Amino acid sequence: MTKEFRHFINGEFVSSERTFPKYSPLNNKQIGVIHEANKQQVDDAVKAARAAMKGPWGKMTVEQRVAKLYAVADEITRRFDEFVEAEMQDTGQTLHVMEHVFIPRGAANFKIFADVIKNVPTEAFQMETPDGRGAMNSAIRLPKGVIGVVCPWNAPFLLMTWKVGPALACGNAVIVKPSEETPATALLLAEVMRDVGIPAGVYNVVHGFGPQSTGEFLTSHDGVDAITFTGETQTGAAIMKAAADGIRDVSFELGGKNAGIVFADCDFDKAIEGIGRASFLNTGQVCLGTERVYVERPIFKKFVQALKEKAESFVAGDPTDPKTTMGPLISKEHQAKVLSYYEKAKKEGATIVTGGGVPDMSGDYADGAWVQPTIWIDLPESASVIQDEIFGPCCHIRPFDTEDEVIELANATEYGLSTTIWTQDLARAYRMAQGVDVGITWINSWFLRDLRTPFGGSKKSGIGREGGVHSLEFYTELRNVCIKL
Ligand code: NAD
Repeated sequence: MTKEFRHFINGEFVSSERTFPKYSPLNNKQIGVIHEANKQQVDDAVKAARAAMKGPWGKMTVEQRVAKLYAVADEITRRFDEFVEAEMQDTGQTLHVMEHVFIPRGAANFKIFADVIKNVPTEAFQMETPDGRGAMNSAIRLPKGVIGVVCPWNAPFLLMTWKVGPALACGNAVIVKPSEETPATALLLAEVMRDVGIPAGVYNVVHGFGPQSTGEFLTSHDGVDAITFTGETQTGAAIMKAAADGIRDVSFELGGKNAGIVFADCDFDKAIEGIGRASFLNTGQVCLGTERVYVERPIFKKFVQALKEKAESFVAGDPTDPKTTMGPLISKEHQAKVLSYYEKAKKEGATIVTGGGVPDMSGDYADGAWVQPTIWIDLPESASVIQDEIFGPCCHIRPFDTEDEVIELANATEYGLSTTIWTQDLARAYRMAQGVDVGITWINSWFLRDLRTPFGGSKKSGIGREGGVHSLEFYTELRNVCIKL
């Protein structure tokens, strides 16, 4: 059955004249029709959001808002299976990752930020004045206004709620532009918002593409007060230009080319498990994943062999089958991009340890966007697959000898999102954490997230930090009130 993915504007599901097809990544068959919002519809959404800020939403107490956000999280949990199903159809990713990571973490995003806003203090300063009477300064925290939320496709629900949760907790209204590849869960969330009584206009969804389409209409609309974006670095640059008109604030979570670093004293099995996840989870479509692995020379050969076995152990197939451990890429277009890098690696002289092509998928899945988990060695650091973000299930492994050398290798990229370091020597781990230029360093783990901690990238991997109280910097304005006594 073909689904229709409409917009959600001012509490209503709305159609457009223009639509485009949504294909399943599993078999490339059309599974839906997505409506493409035009300028007028984006404008309607902005007006609805602005009106909601002046209406009942803007007048709610923090306590009332927090209660609503808890209700949103509970309703997502009640409709958990529908969210799992919808996201699985959009992305083709496995039931396991949906049930254990993406959907529960998405629901948690509403509770955690509700708790943050309920408990966060502001500041007060008592000031002396020449007349001896003094003055009191206090800061009050206000919502920023209407927030444009532009999302990618790789973990659609998790990444969208990571922005919508704090934005609403802080009292803003939002207009979400999901990726053109993954429209479904943003709309299920619209039903949830409506059903728990979030006022019309607070949460809006407009579908479409980026340039000269919905994304650009939204980010260049002067009624949008700030833009939070997760996606490619180049897109971030385009959005930043749009935000310059009107001097609007941006929060960016962008691309990465993260290094995994493994020392000879690591817990070997755990390191293989950890790097295996970091390179291959979600078919390598995780911004925090690693496509460059550096291994201390004494264990290099053993490591390559063990990671090869790990890569070859993944089972591609029906995402609902518990035996399936790897899904397809998001689309045939992305498959072509990843395969073009597999070809480049060959041309640039890589030794292919495993993979390098398309798995043999039979029957209904033959035309899906599948690729093999792939490992290379023996490339110079200048090789394309070591420099560019591929966003596929692949990594290059290279030996190293010293801490200084591996810090230099890890930092030789324009990106600075995350790293995962494996060693039993915690003093060394801490030295490394200070040396590698990234926003998040995992020691003996990967993708372990405490939502209260600052999240974001250095260099071309982002601007700003979100998470816990850090999200408040972007989603609220602090206003100083000075009272002369
Ligand atoms: P993308 O930049 O192609 O698209 C992201 C969103 O931006 C989509 O909704 C798209 O329609 C929209 N868009 C594109 N051009 C636009 C424009 N000119 N104006 C306004 N909107 C525009 O990214 P993607 O391919 O969907 O996602 C993959 C990328 O996201 C990777 O680079 C990955 O590293 C990055 N990512 C980063 C993080 C992080 O936390 N740093 C998390 C997930 C993904």
